Amino acid sequence: MRLFSREKPKIKITTTKKDGFSGWLKCTHCNELIHANELQRNSNCCPKCDYHYRLSADERLSSLADPETFVEMYTEVKSHDFLEFADTEKYTDRLASAIEKSGHDEAVVVGRCSLANKPIAIAIFDFNFMGGSMGAAVGERITLIIEYALVERLPLIIVSSSGGARMQESILSLMQMAKTSAALARLDQAKIPYISVLTNPTTGGVTASFASLGDVIVAEPNALICFAGPRVIEQTIGQKLPAGAQKSEFLLEHGMIDCITRRHDLKNKLVELLDILSGNETDPLLKK
Ligand SMILES: [Zn+2]
Repeated sequence: MRLFSREKPKIKITTTKKDGFSGWLKCTHCNELIHANELQRNSNCCPKCDYHYRLSADERLSSLADPETFVEMYTEVKSHDFLEFADTEKYTDRLASAIEKSGHDEAVVVGRCSLANKPIAIAIFDFNFMGGSMGAAVGERITLIIEYALVERLPLIIVSSSGGARMQESILSLMQMAKTSAALARLDQAKIPYISVLTNPTTGGVTASFASLGDVIVAEPNALICFAGPRVIEQTIGQKLPAGAQKSEFLLEHGMIDCITRRHDLKNKLVELLDILSGNETDPLLKK
């Protein structure tokens, strides 16, 4: 299962080389030199080629939620090493270093906030926490925030960035796919909007469950979105995949997602979509 290997992801900003002067980085996508401050000011998108580098859950939250409106929920739900799993490292040790690295105690942060003054329920993955993998606690937090959205009748937004199921939890992590999907079916029956935002990378059991179940599925440009990664498929079928297969643009062309939105436009897009889904859209004819 190469998806869950310890190999570095193909695109990782920390692999860029500093040129010896402080703050200069080489974009791994266009090879241009960019300054870290400029990258940060530009929402972690390359100012030269617009490649969208990953955001942490905190950075994503501050780019979407109205300032100081986010309230984190269900932090009491935490991962446990049910299987006393160890590969090259104990699962408990991996959890401890992920907590330290990400500054969060799980791979997903859930809660409520306002988006352009509209209350919403939100879940945001942090890829820095064990590759945003979905264990039992992640699935439970997602399910709880879906149920909260259902009870409070709040629109739900989930921003995914995940390597898929958490192999250290085996079948317990796979069960989260059914659980989150069942909860979303209830949200759908209650006609409460759910928008799924797919960011680089969204893969495995996350793609195969709630991330693909949005009323509207929005993706960031050039994001890897797939079940099994390109390398696994190529090794299995013994053929090269077409260029750009499993990227947002390819998926849009083949009807798997609804739109591609640049990070700078994402908040406005979500507000617009929520207005439409909630039946509050302004009729352009009435404006005249
Ligand atoms: Zn670039």
